[in-house]
Amino acid sequence: MMISVEKCVHCHLCQDKCDFLSKYGIDIGDTEKLKEFAYHCFLCGKCTEVCPVGIDGRGYILDLRRAFAQSNPAAVKRAYKGVFKEKQNYSFRNWSKVTPGSVFFPGCNFPSLFPKTNAEISRVLAEHGIGTIYDCCGKPIAELGDRESEDIIIEDIAKRLRDSGVEEIILACPNCRGHFGDRLGIKVTSIFTKLSELGLGNIIEDDVKFFVPCPDREKRAWIDEIRPFVKGEISFVEGVQCCGLGGCAISKEPEISKAFADKFKDEADGEVMAYCASCTGRLKRNGFDSINHIITVVMGTGENPDTKKSYVNRVLTKFK
Ligand code: SF4
Ligand code: SF4
Repeated sequence: MMISVEKCVHCHLCQDKCDFLSKYGIDIGDTEKLKEFAYHCFLCGKCTEVCPVGIDGRGYILDLRRAFAQSNPAAVKRAYKGVFKEKQNYSFRNWSKVTPGSVFFPGCNFPSLFPKTNAEISRVLAEHGIGTIYDCCGKPIAELGDRESEDIIIEDIAKRLRDSGVEEIILACPNCRGHFGDRLGIKVTSIFTKLSELGLGNIIEDDVKFFVPCPDREKRAWIDEIRPFVKGEISFVEGVQCCGLGGCAISKEPEISKAFADKFKDEADGEVMAYCASCTGRLKRNGFDSINHIITVVMGTGENPDTKKSYVNRVLTKFK
């Protein structure tokens, strides 16, 4: 049940746990002040997690963005024109290798940062009759509050899948999965589950410390699916709220975004594994080097995120 933001008791727990709220000295319950800063939020969900009353701070801020975008659509499109230009009608879409039955959908950022690993996954899945399609799930547009475009993107992808006879979509990105939810009307599987089913992938003997991406923070469903690939103990980096990429807030709060990587240096104490390409790329870009995506070990590519050529890699997916 959604708890109204008016029930806020101003305990400041959300503020204490969020670098953005603490910078401006506001709680989620400070609704008037929060309106001004809706696009400064990383939509990470930490405030939702810690609220003792059960207020969904992330959902509330997304609603603020939706209300703003509905009454000021041109302003939002102008402020985030790069995002709209690329993602609204995804510029590098490529469905030429769609297969009926099951298909691999790596999203936009995974092939952009891990092109070799993406190619290796596509190669092994193709041996099992599974093709790869390149598209964007639309989450960046949705996070900017453009509800109408969000729905159009989802409906378009669902229709293309239906028309192609796809019954199962295999995802490599926790953002795509969280965003799609059950809205595609077909089976959604993670790449780790599919590799397990096919008996593929390397096993890691050592202990692994994970950074949990925002969309998997609550359920940690991916961890259960990755578990068969890790023989050692699993632990987590708990003290960092976001990689710094969430909510398209980086343009408003570049210092906070950068500071998340600095916090990592204090909290991580050694090598960290992620299972979100965006988190891996953002933390590397912001100077935290001891991180990589676990899929690069599972697939044996040893690839580091290609932060220098990520845009070019994304463009190239159009021609694969
Ligand atoms: S969603 Fe994250 S960044 Fe936004 S207010 Fe909540 S804790 Fe802060
Ligand atoms: S944690 Fe919940 S109750 Fe406490 S200040 Fe934040 S929104 Fe209000």
